[in-house]
Amino acid sequence: MLIIAFFAAHWYTSVLMQTFFLHRYAAHQMFTMSPRWEKFFYTLTFITQGSSFLSPRAYGIMHRLHHAHADTEADPHSPEFSKNLFDMMWKTRIYYNDILNNRDQIAARFKKGVPNWRFMERLGDRWLVRLGWMVAYTLIYVAFAPSFWFFLLLPVHFLMGPVHGAIINWYAHRYGYTNFAVNDTARNLLPFDFLMMGESYHNNHHKFGGRANFGGFRWHEFDPAYPLIRLLDKVGVIRLRTGRDEAYM
Ligand SMILES: [Zn+2]
Ligand SMILES: [Zn+2]
Repeated sequence: MLIIAFFAAHWYTSVLMQTFFLHRYAAHQMFTMSPRWEKFFYTLTFITQGSSFLSPRAYGIMHRLHHAHADTEADPHSPEFSKNLFDMMWKTRIYYNDILNNRDQIAARFKKGVPNWRFMERLGDRWLVRLGWMVAYTLIYVAFAPSFWFFLLLPVHFLMGPVHGAIINWYAHRYGYTNFAVNDTARNLLPFDFLMMGESYHNNHHKFGGRANFGGFRWHEFDPAYPLIRLLDKVGVIRLRTGRDEAYM
């Protein structure tokens, strides 16, 4: 039971930080926060994503490119231009690493205002640090896994960030229903998003790239991250920006 709880905790905290900090803040700037809070959430992203820490700066820039060029050849990750899921993930990795190492040719407008805490960007990307997280996950399994079969879950822990990315970038661009006609293949993958903290409402999100609530267009579309964002806004941790639903950056 402890292992299932650990898996669930890792899954949900990791996807929460991806949607809250990397996606809605770093890429789309749906809200603002002070430099201190930014460092706090950087650290929380590092802890929750662990071995698969994604750079908020690289993620933000790459994701803006996705919105600008969704399902064209200039899209960093389009199922339309990939042979299969792994081919798409491999191309995404190349894009990501080029941005991370400043080898990209991406226009400056896509880079405006993305967070960039050098210390954490470097620390989270160190191989030794990633390896340390992997060892820690493995030790938890050694201590608490009821049988050897549970060790098959370990690769998901190791690659948690990219796994969440792949679910949306591949499956939510192929399967699901649409509320809106958009210029790309984005779909609402799950009618009730119990897995991805609102990220599943991808068709809604491609239609309204600056809207902090991903759900809310049908009675069953509940975005679990949104009430949390409202609460953080209310207590003054972040400040929600309004009136820019159509703008994705
Ligand atoms: Zn998309
Ligand atoms: Zn987006």
